Amino acid sequence: METKVFEVGNDPRQAGAAGAQIVRAGGLVAFPTETVYGLGANGLDGPAVDRIFEAKGRPNDNPLILHVAEKADAFRLWAGEPPFASILMDTFWPGPLTLIYYRSDIVPDEVTAGLDTVAVRMPDNEAARALIAASGVPIAAPSANLSGKPSPTRAEHVLQDMDGRIPLILDGGPCRYGVESTVLSLTGTPTILRPGAVTKEMLAAVLGEVSLALSILAPLGAGEKAASPGMKYKHYAPNAQVLVVVGEPRAAAERLSALYDRFTVQGQRPYIAATQEALPYYGDRRCALLGTRQDPTTLCSRLFSLLRELDREADVILCEGIGTAGTGLAFMNRLLRSAGFRVEYL
Ligand code: AMP
Ligand code: MG
Repeated sequence: METKVFEVGNDPRQAGAAGAQIVRAGGLVAFPTETVYGLGANGLDGPAVDRIFEAKGRPNDNPLILHVAEKADAFRLWAGEPPFASILMDTFWPGPLTLIYYRSDIVPDEVTAGLDTVAVRMPDNEAARALIAASGVPIAAPSANLSGKPSPTRAEHVLQDMDGRIPLILDGGPCRYGVESTVLSLTGTPTILRPGAVTKEMLAAVLGEVSLALSILAPLGAGEKAASPGMKYKHYAPNAQVLVVVGEPRAAAERLSALYDRFTVQGQRPYIAATQEALPYYGDRRCALLGTRQDPTTLCSRLFSLLRELDREADVILCEGIGTAGTGLAFMNRLLRSAGFRVEYL
């Protein structure tokens, strides 16, 4: 199958119309959102949704998010009104917040992987909403990468993974946030299953109390059940091995430099992903700049594309960790998973 790339440019409606033709015929379209690129299909059509799992090589017990163009469209997908839904939607939609609640009868099993709940979000991207509106159905979409790989934050990343597997990519340029949405379950005490650009602090300001799922910063223990099935799989991993060191800039740089030198002696090709604060301490070792620790949102937006870039240059990626306040939590959640939890805390 030939994969066409359609530039969104300044005409999101035309891009949406081109994609909707394919979605309505049961096909797959990759599209930009403010988080990462999504791989979309008609979310009410089970066989169409199955094609997403096939194209990505995604385990079919990992449910998908349904994307809507209007707030009102979310309510058809849930069995009743989730607690706090209206205030959360008014505060954060359109935007990077996914809400989970019991599903209605129109949601196919393929979307929810057999769970009795469904995840819904309204993206803050004109082309994405034009695609959903022109399709006339909610769009089921996970990230548009091969399963297990770093999520795509540019159309060229989608092409790297999906060339020949899907008919169309809508190219809307680089994604603003570069990490997937915050996933919040509303079936009990509001609980963050996956952190994102809508932070725990932002949600607490609206809800009062918010819990964090256990598996956000640690691997699942033996026999522990994942609140979100996606958390049990290897995730966001480049081919290179990723190692993380968390500590003050100078101490982290000294430890990562020692690791760098050891891998070099062993004949491996290490590369350091550094923060601005630690950059002066790496000497002439090969370093890529992630950004400043003062701005974890920017670190988030660069992480996946940097992992893809360094994968071409390195066998080992040595990366600094940061604190978990604000969007630091989303950064560390993705980074630790990409490292398979190989991390040292100094
Ligand atoms: P992706 O779109 O690839 O980022 O994957 C969507 C994420 O949302 C995965 O981590 C899923 O496990 C999670 N998710 C989707 N639906 C549900 C649900 N009904 N309950 C819990 N987690 C969900
Ligand atoms: Mg994904």
